[in-house]
This record gives sequence, C-alpha cells and structure tokens, in this order.
Amino acid sequence: MPALIIDGKAIAEQIKAEVKRDAERLKRERGIVPGLAFILVGEDPASQVYVRSKGKACEEMGFHSITERLPETISQQELLTLIHRCNHDPKIHGILVQLPLPKHIDESTIIEAIDFKKDVDGFHPVNVGRLVLGHKCFRPCTPAGVQELLLRGGNDPSGKHVVVVGRSNIVGKPVMNILLQKQRGANAVVTIAHTGTSDLSTYTKQADILVAAIGKAEAIRGDMLKPGCVVIDVGINRIPDPTAKSGTRLVGDVHFASASNVARAITPVPGGVGPMTIAMLMKNTLLAAEGAMYK
Ligand code: NDP
Repeated sequence: MPALIIDGKAIAEQIKAEVKRDAERLKRERGIVPGLAFILVGEDPASQVYVRSKGKACEEMGFHSITERLPETISQQELLTLIHRCNHDPKIHGILVQLPLPKHIDESTIIEAIDFKKDVDGFHPVNVGRLVLGHKCFRPCTPAGVQELLLRGGNDPSGKHVVVVGRSNIVGKPVMNILLQKQRGANAVVTIAHTGTSDLSTYTKQADILVAAIGKAEAIRGDMLKPGCVVIDVGINRIPDPTAKSGTRLVGDVHFASASNVARAITPVPGGVGPMTIAMLMKNTLLAAEGAMYK
C-alpha cells in the first residue's frame, strides 16, 4: 500500500490560523501587534523569494513587518548598527537576518548581535544553548516544523528510533536536540548520520522515523528504509526535468516513488516541511510579542 502523505501545507495553514487568532486576541486584549524585521543583504534571488513569502505571511497574520534591503557592499559595522536599532525598537519583536551573508561579513558576529529575546530564527547561541539544555527558548523554525509535522500527523516520536541524516546547525543538530528532550512530543532515541557514516543504510534501515536533511537530490531510496517507517524529507533540490515547462522541478533528499512503497507515511516535496518553516516563524514571532519566551 502506498504511504500516507503527510500534508505539510494543510498543517502549516492550521498553525497559521491559530497564530492569526491568537494575534488578534493579543491586539484586542493588550494592544500589541507582533512586529518582525527582515534584513536582506544583496541580491541573492532565493533570499529575495524567501523574504517576500515571509513578508506575505506577516500580512496574512496581521503582523507589522519591515524589510530592510541593503546593498551587497554594506559594511559589517553598518549592518550591526541596523541590528542595534531593531533591538531597541519596541514595535519589533522578532529580527530575521536572511542568510547567507556576503563573504566580508561574519555570520556569527551578526547573529550574536541580535537580542536573543528577538531571535525568532533560534540561531543565537543563547537559544541554541537553552535548546540543548531542554530550557524554554526560540527553536529554529524548520526543525520545530519537523516536530509539529510528526505530532499533528499522528506520529509521536516518543520512544521511537529517529535517524536524522545531516548534522547542520540549522537543521540536523536542532532536530536532534528537539526530539531527544525528556519532554512530551519528544523523548525519542536519536541517531545522527553524516558524511563520516560508513554504511548509511545500516542506520537508515533501523529508523522508525527518518529525517533527511542532506542537500542531495533523492539520495535516500526505498531500499534503505525500514518497512512501515515514517519519512520526513527536509531537502529542497532543483533537478533538470525536460517534461516540465521550466525545465526543472523540485525534489527532496528522499526518492519519493521508491520510499513511498516502503514507508507508512511520508512528506512530499514540495508541500511537506517547506510550508512549516514559515508557519513556525509566525508562531515564534507571536511568542516573542506575547513575551511568552523571555520577560
Ligand atoms: P548542509 O549542507 O548545511 O548540511 C548537510 C548535512 O548532510 C551535513 O551534515 C552533511 O554531512 C550531510 N550529508 C551530506 N551528504 C551526505 C551523505 N551522502 N550521507 C550522509 N550525510 C550527508 O544542509 P542543510 O542542513 O542546510 O540543508 C539540508 C537540506 O534541507 C537541503 O536540501 C536544504 O535545501 C534543505 N532545507 C530546507 C528547509 C525547508 O524550509 N524545508 C530549510 C533549510 C534547509 P557533513 O556534516 O559530514 O558534511
């Protein structure tokens, strides 16, 4: 039987509807409108698209948002000055610096300059550290979205063996840190694999839940999976497709056709993890505005 599709688009819409409802209440009861500042440096087309769709989501939620578009040549000091201004702006509850940054700007310095109480991306070392410790914090949006997809798709990871393929700071490691906590909706046995893993299939075949965050098109095939597992495909890769109008199409890190013959449930690409990232960003911004994370 082909795998059940975990509909990330529908789950993301559900989350956004909840955020919108709570934002309206926040405005009504406390006069607070959640505010998000986007900082975009340079002309990277993918970054432009991401920032546009995040801005559109803010509009849908009734949030206040500003987008600072800066030239590629901006100095690190000028960028820091802008961040300090946003840190002190009471109308701004969340700050998002779209990555990657130009080579002459040090990413860590920029991320660390953001007030961790406004770090809705969850990349500041204070939030990273608190996540590892199992304390309340802003959790990175894509990994938090992975957990929500599991829970709302009826696949509680508690007690399950989760194998995460990929150990990046923005996806693999935080997925691991979220799912291994002794907390409701987590409490999983987590294994993390990477390029140093000698026989990847040995590990992927043991996964009750497989999270693929590799950045390699269709690298994980059905014969690498345990029958009946749940697959969360974080990957977004564009590959040539002569049958498509644009000549390309998006695929995940998992080979969908073969995997969906083996797995019990699977996220599609597009329409799986992708929409969750923006939904979780909206949720983090609401939490920041409510002062729910830090006082
Ligand atoms: P990175 O390139 O930063 O990390 C990739 C990780 O995968 C690394 O840890 C690397 O190992 C590991 N890896 C690469 N090849 C293999 C392999 N053959 N076997 C085992 N491990 C391997 O990628 P990201 O984490 O940033 O992104 C991963 C994917 O998720 C990408 O496709 C990206 O586009 C997508 N993504 C999607 C988002 C969404 O909103 N849906 C958001 C963010 C990312 P090593 O550490 O040893 O190099």
